[in-house]
Amino acid sequence: MSVLVTGGAGYIGSHMVLELLEAGENVVVLDNLSTGFWWAVPSSVTLVKGDMGDEALVLKTITDHDVTSIIHFAAKIVVPESVADPLGYYLNNTAKTRQLLECAVKGGVKNFIFSSTAAVYGDVSSEPVAEDNELTPVSPYGRSKLMTEWMLQDTAFAHGLNYVILRYFNVAGADPKGRVGQSTPNATHLIKVACQAALGDRSSLDIFGNDYPTPDGTCLRDYIHVCDLAKAHMDALSYLRAGGKSDVFNCGYGIGLSVQEIVNVVKKVSKVDFKVNLSPRRPGDPAAIVAKADKIRDILGWKPEYNHVEGIVQDAFAWEKHLKTRNDV
Ligand code: UDP
Repeated sequence: MSVLVTGGAGYIGSHMVLELLEAGENVVVLDNLSTGFWWAVPSSVTLVKGDMGDEALVLKTITDHDVTSIIHFAAKIVVPESVADPLGYYLNNTAKTRQLLECAVKGGVKNFIFSSTAAVYGDVSSEPVAEDNELTPVSPYGRSKLMTEWMLQDTAFAHGLNYVILRYFNVAGADPKGRVGQSTPNATHLIKVACQAALGDRSSLDIFGNDYPTPDGTCLRDYIHVCDLAKAHMDALSYLRAGGKSDVFNCGYGIGLSVQEIVNVVKKVSKVDFKVNLSPRRPGDPAAIVAKADKIRDILGWKPEYNHVEGIVQDAFAWEKHLKTRNDV
């Protein structure tokens, strides 16, 4: 019996693989290495290089490795890029996941855990958002993920697949042991970009908009450590294996931090007063997205261990420093 991790060479997937190995699971990774890295997959794990839209390859992988559970990370994840290239997002995140689901059904896979996103909620108020909130995504990225949620729910109903959908809030940080981290060149996510500015890899950081209806005018987000997120998937897997009912869970801490607050923490942790510019709003950005976070704790028994922003930034900063010493990234 194995767990198939799509996108297991990527940022979150590679942390998941380490978590699964530590739990003694057999793991197989499917990744087309478009944004992932071969070195992020431990040598003890089979890395199938290929596309989740390749039905023959996916079915062979499911059969060869006796895959009973799939944890599906492979996706494009950059909101502004999705605004510029919606069809690329609908192809990759929606259409190819349809292929993957078809293979899961044909291959008799029992459990499917899907990486969804808080972007499915859209432009919510500054109140924490619960799972049963209205779903009105404002970006093609959010819509591509919401369509996939629906597809998964319909497929599960028709074919007896069990699922957990995890809606991630803002994932950040890195493995505290320094084995893997966010390594994508030209990354756009705030904490990584701010760490790069602190290390002098960028001349400055742009704050995209300070005229939002939030306490300091900059956007509020709920930042969650990538290791706590990987742990949430382990909890979801145990839950499904124990016969838990298919369901949707927010994955965040329920703490809203502003862009300005994050910038301050990165300056404090790095001890560098890097240059910050005030820039216009970025298309597709909601003012605030903070999780109502009790359901996942109550039902999956998830207990975050890294829910302190300074620790998240410390791990992200340490990884960014480490990346500068490598020549394979
Ligand atoms: N942000 C920013 N400057 C940057 C990158 C991001 O001001 O260089 C802001 C962005 O507008 C948003 C927040 O930081 O309000 C989080 O953005 P990120 O891209 O990290 O994640 P998202 O919430 O878009 O998934």
